[in-house]
Amino acid sequence: MSSVYQRIRRKLLAWYDKSKRDLPWRNTKDPYCIWVSEIMLQQTQVKTVIPYYERWIKTFPTLEKLAGAPELKVLKLWEGLGYYSRARNFKKAAKIVAKELGGKVPDTVTGLQNLPGIGRYTAGAIASIAFGIKTPVLDGNVKRVLSRLFCINENGSTSASEKRLWQKAEDLLSLRRPGDFNQALMELGATVCTPKSPTCLQCPLSSTCRTFLKGDPELFPPTKKKAPAKKIEVSAGIILKNKKVYIQQRAKDGLMGGLWEFPGGKRKKDESPEDCLKREIREELGTDIAILNKAMTIKHTYTQFRVTLHVFNCCLSGGRLKPSECEQWKWVSLKHLDKYPFPAANVKIVKYLADRTSAINC
Ligand code: SF4
Repeated sequence: MSSVYQRIRRKLLAWYDKSKRDLPWRNTKDPYCIWVSEIMLQQTQVKTVIPYYERWIKTFPTLEKLAGAPELKVLKLWEGLGYYSRARNFKKAAKIVAKELGGKVPDTVTGLQNLPGIGRYTAGAIASIAFGIKTPVLDGNVKRVLSRLFCINENGSTSASEKRLWQKAEDLLSLRRPGDFNQALMELGATVCTPKSPTCLQCPLSSTCRTFLKGDPELFPPTKKKAPAKKIEVSAGIILKNKKVYIQQRAKDGLMGGLWEFPGGKRKKDESPEDCLKREIREELGTDIAILNKAMTIKHTYTQFRVTLHVFNCCLSGGRLKPSECEQWKWVSLKHLDKYPFPAANVKIVKYLADRTSAINC
């Protein structure tokens, strides 16, 4: 087996040296920059990450800058990238490194894994790429490549199969160039050994790939049928007072935690969007509203669900606000609204308001 492994390493690294994409985080060994890229790349495609990465490095060029930044600014920069706990944990971890570790990013897998938001994969990626530590990585791309190369009928969805794939990644690792080797495996999975229609005829490993030689790479790894995204209907209110609009911050530990939003909630069966909004405002803000008109209907697909958002212009018709289900709340002038991070569907309401600022009188 070891000569097969050697052949794979040699061919894969030669292919990587020649064919790797020129990505902004590949021009540095700065552990902070590698860390930024690895956190952003979790669950997110490279082409989406590039502009976010560039803006991030421009705004927070060093770990100290991130550690000292207000959370609002951090989340605003992350707006649209999803999985917001990544940004909040990154900020927490940066603070720990700046205050408790003398500003030095840990150069061991264990040291990295002790920080919030860093799991085994991310620790392995930072340690091998930034510090040359001989440690493997296993993400979705690597799992697919290994599963096809060695005809392993497992996808890492159980702890036993996960363990087996980690072991394979470790056995195969190049001890001479661990960081490049890990990146090469991920690059092959992202560009050649793709989930559907892998381009095996252009693959540097086709002569040793067991599933290619058997003629059935697409059957590996076995895939689980994804449940279709759940459809939900939501109503939200634009409540204006003295040219300011009411917004509230979502609970930090929940879905899209820490982002801001317009008040409202999920429609119940047999409830009209208008009645839903009135009920939600009464429950969440402890007051009544009068609905003036419908502002817009927004359809948006998040990873977990597809939302239809009915948005209404309204004004308060009850007593004082007593918001009870949010982290904090504010009346914000329309010109300052774009300083706050919102979920993608709410960003469309912010744009709607920006286009109408001069026409709003209440
Ligand atoms: Fe993937 Fe095909 Fe290469 Fe095998 S030969 S590793 S299936 S791209």
